[in-house]
Amino acid sequence: MESKADHPCDAITGNFSDWIGLAERKKVAIIGGGVAGLAAARKLTQNRISDVLVLEAQDYLGGRVKTYREGSLLVEDGAGWISGGSANPLFSLAKRLGGMSSPIRKESYVSAI
Ligand SMILES: Cc1cc2nc3c(=O)[nH]c(=O)nc-3n(C[C@H](O)[C@H](O)[C@H](O)COP(=O)(O)OP(=O)(O)OC[C@H]3O[C@@H](n4cnc5c(N)ncnc54)[C@H](O)[C@@H]3O)c2cc1C
Repeated sequence: MESKADHPCDAITGNFSDWIGLAERKKVAIIGGGVAGLAAARKLTQNRISDVLVLEAQDYLGGRVKTYREGSLLVEDGAGWISGGSANPLFSLAKRLGGMSSPIRKESYVSAI
């Protein structure tokens, strides 16, 4: 498992009433820090709406996309591949960020797992 110090949410502090108080002073509060919530926050900030707060119930961002480190391995506990190929907006994002692995040949699926 990843060590606590490596977690992207480690810098987040405070308690529920602090965060709700903060949300009430924001123009936009997004409930949930899964892909949809994070994409909404990104879209808003790209369009100069920066008074945004993402409220996430769990102690990590990503929702059903959950990656953790097990020794030298990165383990995907949720989404592991991009469904729909290039039709999926995540395909171009992963390509741009250099996050694409080499294609796995169909006959290699079993041995790759
Ligand atoms: C095992 C597994 C494998 C998958 N594999 C793939 C795959 O290979 N390819 C693929 O494309 N998709 C895959 N999926 C589906 C993909 O993960 C989801 O479609 C996608 O992550 C959903 O994103 P979302 O932001 O809509 O919802 P979620 O990821 O569910 O995010 C919602 C977030 O909102 C938070 N939340 C909910 N209620 C509240 C509240 N009241 N207050 C604060 N926070 C709240 C939750 O804690 C959560 O973090 C997989 C899913 C699973 C579970």
